[in-house]
Amino acid sequence: MAVYANPGTDGAVMSFESRYDNWIGNQWTPPVKGQYFENPSPINGRTFCEIARSTAEDIDLALDAAHKAAPAWGKTAPAERSLVLLRIADRIEENLEKIAVAESWDNGKAVRETLAADIPLAVDHLRYFAGALRAQQGSISEIDEDTVAYHFHEPLGVVGQIIPWNFPILMAIWKIAPALAAGNAIVLKPAEQTPASILYLISLIGDLLPEGVLNVVNGFGVEAGKPLASSNRIRKIAFTGETTTGRLIMQYASENIIPVTLELGGKSPNIFFDDVLIADDGFRQRALEGFAMFALNQGEVCTCPSRALIQEGIYDDFIELGVERVKHIKQGNPLDTETMMGAQASNDQFEKITSYLSIGKEEGAEVLTGGEILELDGDLAGGYYIKPTVFAGSNKMRIFQEEIFGPVLSVAKFADYNEAMSIANDTLYGLGAGVWSRDGATAYRAGREIQAGRVWTNTYHDYPAHAAFGGYKQSGIGRENHLVMLEHYQQTKNLLVGYAQSPK
Ligand code: NAD
Repeated sequence: MAVYANPGTDGAVMSFESRYDNWIGNQWTPPVKGQYFENPSPINGRTFCEIARSTAEDIDLALDAAHKAAPAWGKTAPAERSLVLLRIADRIEENLEKIAVAESWDNGKAVRETLAADIPLAVDHLRYFAGALRAQQGSISEIDEDTVAYHFHEPLGVVGQIIPWNFPILMAIWKIAPALAAGNAIVLKPAEQTPASILYLISLIGDLLPEGVLNVVNGFGVEAGKPLASSNRIRKIAFTGETTTGRLIMQYASENIIPVTLELGGKSPNIFFDDVLIADDGFRQRALEGFAMFALNQGEVCTCPSRALIQEGIYDDFIELGVERVKHIKQGNPLDTETMMGAQASNDQFEKITSYLSIGKEEGAEVLTGGEILELDGDLAGGYYIKPTVFAGSNKMRIFQEEIFGPVLSVAKFADYNEAMSIANDTLYGLGAGVWSRDGATAYRAGREIQAGRVWTNTYHDYPAHAAFGGYKQSGIGRENHLVMLEHYQQTKNLLVGYAQSPK
């Protein structure tokens, strides 16, 4: 048990700079227009640094640097690129505590999560792609006795990447690792709500990459993100964020006919069949943990299991146990390793979630626990804290259909398997889902029938680097993690060679 000191104060493990510029061509580069914006910590609502407020001119500078770097980087031997990724992973691991505290301070999430999940997962991701790129092989098709088609994986060149604020460092590494492994140069735009931890990370790892291979440009969506996504100097745009923004990104990309991968929103069902409660054992405890997972990362997870569907035979008992479990979630100072739930990432997000607390009540949903903000005092006054909330209602309500992106769970009951499937699939989204049953056949059948890219059965919120992750329906296009991701950052070169020495 430990409570980390606030960054930059006595006893702190790390401190931020008071101002961050863009990282372009391995240099800290001030924004062309000389403007900066204030970056507050959600933990107390107070500004702790200024960040470059970039525009199209800065994106162009970063693209210049990336274009200069891309040809040589794309030609490095896989073993050499792999080594760079491994060195970055090692450097992050050596600085785990510092980066974890930076991430908590910038985003508001609990340090026990950043220490145990966000940063170790980022390290593992880099190591996975360091290995995957060396294991990747091209292929040969024999066309006829004298003719061969060779297939090579080639890098795309310069790629753009735009990420959200809910897992700033992990989302950055999810994008950076496969793109670098595949031999591309990158221009990355972090979210304006959480730029500082990524820039702190860059200050630790920047020297490990050749000049211009990774460039980070900060700023707002329309001012900096749009010029990046609509530039005709990128060969791909990878985006994670809201579905409405994803639609715009596709429009920009269509002008230049470049590939797009989109990781978007979700409204994931978490289904509990009635055999879950038949014994008071470890399985039952796991299922109750799975029910409470909606509060992980303050509910700011694209796969947040925000709709719990419970079979009617166990509904009352399960709700009683589940709500009791939710009441044990410890909220408080995110820098305390005992804290399970920290602050929402921004004031805007805090207000959006509180508006949904009102919407749920107005729609007639019953508040089973929470339903209000949490006011903390002392050092934490001014931070953005909300109590984990469970509503009971029906799937037609807005709180069941719209992504709240906060610690708000909507619960409904179902009579049988068919009704569970029809409620689960009654959504625009298709990112994640959970199925809990002791009966393997039921769990398997449901897993295949739910229209979502990732269905966890008898587990939830695991994100191994070697399992493909991505959305069905309006939750996205393409996948992240897994070997498949390397190919999203490559194009196929076919050499069709005739070896015949005489006319046919
Ligand atoms: P957002 O779409 O508002 O912003 C995401 C990024 O896009 C930010 O960097 C922002 O500056 C930029 N942006 C905004 N408007 C832009 C524009 N017109 N042109 C170019 N860039 C623009 O999303 P958010 O609020 O930061 O993130 C929350 C959303 O992200 C949720 O919907 C969540 O479900 C989703 N998300 C999805 C995944 C996934 O893997 N599917 C993971 C994390 C978050």
